[in-house]
Amino acid sequence: TKTSFLRCISSAIRCHLPDFDVPNVTIPEFIFKDFSKYPNKTALECAETGRKYTYEEVRRKSINLNKGIRKKFKLQPNDIVALILPNVPEYAICLLGILQAGLRVTPVSPFGTADEVTRQIEDTNAKVIFTTCQLGAFTQIAVQQLSRRIPIITIKTQVSEAIPAGTINFQELVDIAFDIDDVNPCNTHNIAVIPYSSGTTGKHKGVLHSHSTLIASVCAVNSDQLYPIKRTTENSQETTPAVLPFFHIYGLTVALLLQLYNLVNVITIPKFTPTLFLNSLLKHKPSAMCIVPPIALFMANHPTVTKEHFESLEIVYSGAAPLGASDEQKLIKRSGKNLKVFQGYGLTEAPLVTAFYKNIPIPHGSVGKVIQNMELKVVPVENPSGDHLGINEPGELLIKGPQVMLGYYNRPKESADAFFEEWFRSGDLVYFDEDNNMFVKDRLKELIKVKGYQVPPAELEELIRTYPNVSDAVVIGIPHDQYGEVPRAYLSVKANTKINLKQLDEFVASKVAKYKRIIGGFAVVDNIPKTASGKYLRKDLKLQYMQELK
Ligand code: AMP
Repeated sequence: TKTSFLRCISSAIRCHLPDFDVPNVTIPEFIFKDFSKYPNKTALECAETGRKYTYEEVRRKSINLNKGIRKKFKLQPNDIVALILPNVPEYAICLLGILQAGLRVTPVSPFGTADEVTRQIEDTNAKVIFTTCQLGAFTQIAVQQLSRRIPIITIKTQVSEAIPAGTINFQELVDIAFDIDDVNPCNTHNIAVIPYSSGTTGKHKGVLHSHSTLIASVCAVNSDQLYPIKRTTENSQETTPAVLPFFHIYGLTVALLLQLYNLVNVITIPKFTPTLFLNSLLKHKPSAMCIVPPIALFMANHPTVTKEHFESLEIVYSGAAPLGASDEQKLIKRSGKNLKVFQGYGLTEAPLVTAFYKNIPIPHGSVGKVIQNMELKVVPVENPSGDHLGINEPGELLIKGPQVMLGYYNRPKESADAFFEEWFRSGDLVYFDEDNNMFVKDRLKELIKVKGYQVPPAELEELIRTYPNVSDAVVIGIPHDQYGEVPRAYLSVKANTKINLKQLDEFVASKVAKYKRIIGGFAVVDNIPKTASGKYLRKDLKLQYMQELK
């Protein structure tokens, strides 16, 4: 019956399936478990260049990297290593090698500006950087802005490329079996990966994930009760295009770790271009893939997409931002078949929270039901101690479970504020229907999501305030057909001065990643609405903007 479908324990929503024990191992131990069964099958292959690695090569080269990096750089356990990499096959070798060495990984967006990279390197105090030859000069600029030197290891993605002067060739680390003892440096509860997120407020901060929190996420989506990834057998191997960036938690967990765990052939797409993406569908014929809403929209609307591109596809998973029910339908229609389009919901701080179960109907527009091991609660906005709200009543989503982050790196106050007792505060306004399907209604937090990427308004506001003659600035997210949302800035100008908005726009564009640009335009106002305590009333500005549109 409906009521027995999901168990309610102390007013929280739980999965109808029993909890499971999260394997008590490290990420490399977890991922390597079955590598030896199919050592010669391809693990990762670059969609652009075709260079590839077998499962055995990934294992061996990551062991070499683990030893090489410790021997060459004299790193201490828990030191942080930065990956400034697009989706390349070597991402897996770097990640698994660094984690085996008892070190931590901070994934950095390679699509940002040098200033953005510098900030993350500075904040994490990263000791070594991995990047590609193409990004070598860019990375060197980011490092030169720091007061210390950091070794940069560069990966050749084309045979013709030269290793940039002053950097170390990746091959030197992965092709040599270094003579150094094995270490048993860490356990499942050690910090493994530190991705960046703005959380509910302020600027980007490092999110602390242990081996265990990430393994818990991967195991939860690997359930037989969801649409399981087809695991490799002697005679068959599934292929999947990895178009979600690995530097984002969604890409790292479902497009990389989950696939390697199932010995799938991962086709890495370094940068989304229609041709590269569509050709990889034709060439590799995946039956399932994970995407973000802008790619769903691209597939539903772009003139170059044909039925042939959907031929092998059975299931598409969308996450990271809302995919409207009508867009979902459009995509299915375009595919010309009974394509299954599923949404999941998660955050950098709690990677996978809801999903779809097979054989259980889920209404369009819902993000599915809570997954195993997690507990969800909806509480009145601004009152996390309140009782769990009833059916269809929107409130803030609180999350508890083994996937939730341990806190923010070096930020005790923000870490404490992110939780109410043991519940993580999502900053999302959600409700559950009578069948416990979750619907995301709005975002309570400041965060803007452009093409599924995080854009923290606080970062743009601080930047705009540094521009001559700006006295104050606030940034909000406004709806955008293609990108979901885009930033729009309101600013006030110092008395008796003027600002050239075109030049200001160019200034911002020169300092931030492309997706953070103020595509929604600038507006000069006399006063920026604030509460008595000085907090920006972003919601009021957004409401005003939406009314002006009508
Ligand atoms: P991130 O940490 O970048 O994954 O961003 C997490 C935020 O993205 C969530 O707090 C939501 O606001 C939003 N989000 C993620 N998945 C969905 C979804 N399926 N539908 C609506 N919003 C989503």
